[in-house]
Amino acid sequence: MSTSESTADSVKESAIAHYAIALSTALKSATVYTGDVIQGIPVISELNIHDLEPGKCHRFFFQGVQMGTGQHWYVPLVVAKGLQEGKRIALISGVHGDEVSSIDAVQRIMASLDPLHLQGTAIALYGVSRPAVELIQAKWLSAQAGGCAIDLNRVWPGDEAGKDAPTRHAGLLWNRVLKPNIDVAIDYHTVSTGSDFSMFIYADLQKPEIRQMAELFPVEQIKDDAGESGTLETALVAAGIPALTVEIGSPRIFDKRKIALTVEGTLNVLKHYHMIEGAIAHTTQEAGTFWGNEFELIRSTTGGYLELLVDVAEKISPGQKVAIQRNAFGDIVAEYTATVHGEVATIARDALSEPGTRIMQILYTRPTA
Ligand SMILES: [Zn+2]
Repeated sequence: MSTSESTADSVKESAIAHYAIALSTALKSATVYTGDVIQGIPVISELNIHDLEPGKCHRFFFQGVQMGTGQHWYVPLVVAKGLQEGKRIALISGVHGDEVSSIDAVQRIMASLDPLHLQGTAIALYGVSRPAVELIQAKWLSAQAGGCAIDLNRVWPGDEAGKDAPTRHAGLLWNRVLKPNIDVAIDYHTVSTGSDFSMFIYADLQKPEIRQMAELFPVEQIKDDAGESGTLETALVAAGIPALTVEIGSPRIFDKRKIALTVEGTLNVLKHYHMIEGAIAHTTQEAGTFWGNEFELIRSTTGGYLELLVDVAEKISPGQKVAIQRNAFGDIVAEYTATVHGEVATIARDALSEPGTRIMQILYTRPTA
């Protein structure tokens, strides 16, 4: 065997070896169909959007974590795969179960997309915290430890071998749906039951791509926020995936006005990434968005009935009285005064307030030194 022949052989062997590795990687990361079909929809335990036919919308149930009896929680998942390659965006709803406007908003966004005229891929997750959505409650009710409620938005990126079911559920979604398939994400929320929220965005504005996304939403308020550990937004940003948390007002109901603003902002983002055609509609510019980087948090100092003197999105000045509390006889037992120039972001809607309850959060700008 001549030297040139042996070189040619080794090149061939190396090429075959690389091909084998590429093939096994491709096979390993294929969309995995469990073989189950629920209500006519195929069940998957892993998503790889490369497998899916372009120019179509694909519906699945994603097989989430098991319940105590061994049955699974299934997350409805839709992939709108465009004919052409492009950005891959995740639209995530229902990480808290009582925040139903998030689900309605994502349904409306997906309904407006035509995969034949889409460049890139939109992946919608509907009602991620399955048991919480069924009960219209913020937290995931677990049977562990005699029964407990776990906040699914404090466990990301999750862990498939984690110490409770919601952490494992998050890990499954993170490893098998989100992380391998997306470039950018929006996580839709509202405030939780008992309170109200303005049309609001949490975003890490120090990151230029995230700032650009946030500016495309015609919202009332935006808070510059480095993120809270365990939230989906923070986990995504830490993984190099630009993300926002959009808060669509009130829990438990469909907040039509704020849902419309959310749809408009999201479609602006899709236009910005050239996923769909069309002129950018209303943004923060037209909306006159109020920006801040801090909340003044007012908690009740005593038990009592709560009378609010202001409402969400209202401008606040230092020294302004914002709420009072009365005891069972109607006597005033507490008065609450703001100390900042800002706007009301969240407010308590329950008229009874235990000591320590969050009455309101006023968004303002903390001066930088
Ligand atoms: Zn939430």
